[in-house]
Amino acid sequence: MRPENPAGRRRKQTVGSVYHCLYEARRGCTKAELAQELGLSLPTIYQSLSELIASGLVCYAGEQQSTGGRRPQSLKAVADARVAVGISLMDDRIRMVVTDLYLNELHYRNVKHKLMWQSESSAAFLAECLESFLNGSGVDRQKLLGVGIAFPGVITTDRARVLYAPTLGLRNVDPNSLTQRIPYPVFWENDATCGGKAEMFIRGDRDNMAYLSLEDGVGGAVLIGGKTYVGEHQRSGEFGHMCVEPAGLPCTCGKRGCLEAYCSAQRIRNTCGVSLDTFFEGLAQHVPEYELLWYDLLRHLSIGINNIHMALDCDVVLGGFLTEYLEPYLPQLHEYAAANNPFAANSDYLQMSVLRRHAVPLGASLYFIQRFLYGE
Ligand SMILES: [Zn+2]
Repeated sequence: MRPENPAGRRRKQTVGSVYHCLYEARRGCTKAELAQELGLSLPTIYQSLSELIASGLVCYAGEQQSTGGRRPQSLKAVADARVAVGISLMDDRIRMVVTDLYLNELHYRNVKHKLMWQSESSAAFLAECLESFLNGSGVDRQKLLGVGIAFPGVITTDRARVLYAPTLGLRNVDPNSLTQRIPYPVFWENDATCGGKAEMFIRGDRDNMAYLSLEDGVGGAVLIGGKTYVGEHQRSGEFGHMCVEPAGLPCTCGKRGCLEAYCSAQRIRNTCGVSLDTFFEGLAQHVPEYELLWYDLLRHLSIGINNIHMALDCDVVLGGFLTEYLEPYLPQLHEYAAANNPFAANSDYLQMSVLRRHAVPLGASLYFIQRFLYGE
């Protein structure tokens, strides 16, 4: 391949900075504003814009009329110039989203199906399921950056092996056995890490955050300086297997007393034998059996939350689909958490996620969006 000449590289960088400026501005910028913001000449701005408009990444944001005559036209980044897919693999469900470059959810589908890893038929099913979702959503395959896949477990940094996924009952398996039929770039990530990254991306206003995900399993992510801290063995933020009750309830990991054993959605379903909707309807009507379990869950959750806060001294953000039901019980959870805090008589650090229900599949798509935007 012929090496790129310096002038070509500089032009590419200029086009990139014009694009990023428009992307960040969201509401649009005029050519004069771009020139001023980037310290570039107007002819340079014109040249970059014509390239960006031709490639479909940028468009005119609409002409504004004013009494004093025509205002200069502003330009904006086209949100769906590229799209990404996020898939969340759960024990008995597949959740899929299509997102645009601002992580807006364009389409969503939930398929009830138990995938068998390392099975040809499951690999075929997943690929067909994805194609049917893309067809139904009318996604232009030319715009599709890739498919991010979130799952509740630990994966090696090279994405070659799933080391451990207790809620799926897996150890040391090849993730590609499940995605080999998917004809797009694929990236695997831990589900709670996806949730945390999506939350951070949407909030965009903080550097440090611990994210605690309450779904069928319990997991988390530690984000420091805007980046995920993965740890020495990719096990950082495995809050679900932090002990909150020595010799307590058995956990899927084989140990006892883990946060996951107490605070997962699975515990509610398995103990009461009802769906979450039924459980929370019953709880609102004070069914004693449900109240007993729920307040025990909240007490253990508050221990876990406090432990995370003590270790990291940053906001703890609660996410995952269980949090959708949490709102009426937040004052109680705050009270339990504050009672555990030796340094302050409150629990202001405890916050609810903005994205709630679809944070995990949204976060799964984020890898391809960030790679496109920032080359990360
Ligand atoms: Zn455990």
